[in-house]
Amino acid sequence: METPKILRQGAEGGATLFPVEYFETRAYLAQSPQLYKQMLIGAGFERVFEIAPAFRAEPSDTVRHLTEFTSLDAEVGYIDGAEDLRRLVEELLTDTLSFVRQDLAERENPLAPGIPEPKPPFPRIPFARCEEWLGRAGAEQDLGTEDERAIGERAIREFGSSFYFLIDFPTAVKSHTFYAQRQEADPRLTGYFDLDYRGLEIMSGGPREHRFDRLVENLRTAGLDPAGFPSYLEAFRFGIPPHGGWAIGIDRLVQVLAGLSNIREARLFPRDRYRLDP
Ligand code: ATP
Repeated sequence: METPKILRQGAEGGATLFPVEYFETRAYLAQSPQLYKQMLIGAGFERVFEIAPAFRAEPSDTVRHLTEFTSLDAEVGYIDGAEDLRRLVEELLTDTLSFVRQDLAERENPLAPGIPEPKPPFPRIPFARCEEWLGRAGAEQDLGTEDERAIGERAIREFGSSFYFLIDFPTAVKSHTFYAQRQEADPRLTGYFDLDYRGLEIMSGGPREHRFDRLVENLRTAGLDPAGFPSYLEAFRFGIPPHGGWAIGIDRLVQVLAGLSNIREARLFPRDRYRLDP
């Protein structure tokens, strides 16, 4: 799919939106194609994907954030929970890396032997357990760069796997993500998960809320006015299948594959808070 990058509304929280002067009104650069992927599932496409730019006004200067990056976004209809999505992600990653390794080897590229060989199933580590490891059980606080690194060290020690999922993100941590489905048995938890490689998050996803009434309720809880999302909500009004999806940051993936310490080295012309040229 190919979706607009100039939008009236953001989907990933107001903090990282880039405003654009758009004639008589204000628009924003797309942080993700989230709402469009879901609308297309509602329009009858069972699986959609897009590889396109995403823009985030990330104020912090880190080695894993850019203000413009490339995102591989996918959405899948008729899923039966988060495990369906995790298995697809495992398959996608294993196939992609095996192709890359083989292709580089054929070209005698020196990076070939360093391309990781994932061995699914990857460990599934509940978010609550990560917080215990970090010594802040039950805090329900989002993970920073240092937290992810510490979890990575522990996960490799305990499970011997460089790839692992962090699962069952609390609703409080994903509070800006109004489209995340809450777990039926415990609404304090979402079905959301991240895939990390050695302490670095490379993708994030989960089942979405497909029920109109609950979606409207989630918008309100997130402090958003449902009236601001007319065409998105319209897609849900007449019923939409259970669905979910994920986003992989291509630049993060390249950073991991090439063993680069800074994401800026994974792009020809990186953009960050201080770099608008060349
Ligand atoms: P992070 O916690 O790393 O800031 P996020 O939770 O905001 O990421 P999502 O909105 O879940 O990220 O985005 C999905 C994927 O997009 C991430 O796993 C990552 O690979 C990539 N990504 C997100 N923000 C950036 C960024 N500023 N620069 C590069 N890649 C990014």
